[in-house]
Amino acid sequence: MFVIKVGGSEGINYNSFLQDLAKYEDYIVVHGGSSELNAISEKLGKPPVFVTSVSGFSSRYTDRETMEIFNMIYAGKMNKMLVENLQKLGINAVGLSGIDGRLIEGKKKRALKIVENGKKKILRGDLSGMIEKINTNLLKLLLTNSYVPVLTPPAISYESEAINVDGDRCAGQIAVSMKADTLIILSNVPGLLKDANDESSLVKTIKADQIDYHIENYAKGRMKKKLLGAKEAIEGGVKSVILGDARSESPVSNAFNGQGTIIQ
Ligand code: ADP
Repeated sequence: MFVIKVGGSEGINYNSFLQDLAKYEDYIVVHGGSSELNAISEKLGKPPVFVTSVSGFSSRYTDRETMEIFNMIYAGKMNKMLVENLQKLGINAVGLSGIDGRLIEGKKKRALKIVENGKKKILRGDLSGMIEKINTNLLKLLLTNSYVPVLTPPAISYESEAINVDGDRCAGQIAVSMKADTLIILSNVPGLLKDANDESSLVKTIKADQIDYHIENYAKGRMKKKLLGAKEAIEGGVKSVILGDARSESPVSNAFNGQGTIIQ
């Protein structure tokens, strides 16, 4: 089986992605919704706030109001759009967020340690956390009855609060827990680029022990989290992680045919 994560950035061709995906069997879909969330948050007069952690990773500051909008976009608009379109293709998809059936469970962060204008700061009121448990029973229940799970953050904390978790790392954890052979992470770039502004600078392969080097030297912004998700997946026993391009006509087949960045 394989886990496929499709991002939420601009330029992703969801119709081609789903049509291509429909050719395969035995998979779990994980998705994002970042650009849509940013756009709707602006329209609602609550522009997104991004913070950078002391370790250099950026994340969305998610207060209660942001979480409500997050649910509207991720678990609502994006999830149901994907489920509806899979249903049109004859695939019996079931959309769930991490809250449903405690599907994705984790520890809520106490406070965010961030860097702002070069200064370290503690930020409170953030609803985000780290994934620790996947409800594999629920996923197996769906898969053995031929349903295709379509999953999205948020996750649920041990205190039963919705928490924002990173979609790529979430896909990685799901792949590990379900003992998937392959994790495909599709985004709006050809894969990891040595120069984020030059699409011809694609890194074709990364060995497991070289992931940290690539995080430090090439990945910027949110690409860092994709590599972190890939690292966690490989360390957890997933055989290969492919970072592929969701803008292409056949993004899933292309990834399986060796296009993109292959991490092993
Ligand atoms: P998604 O929402 O599809 O999951 P993200 O927007 O989170 O995707 O991450 C993909 C983005 O990472 C790209 O659009 C690109 O701007 C950025 N990025 C930063 N560094 C790199 C890099 N070295 N190679 C490729 N993309 C990079």
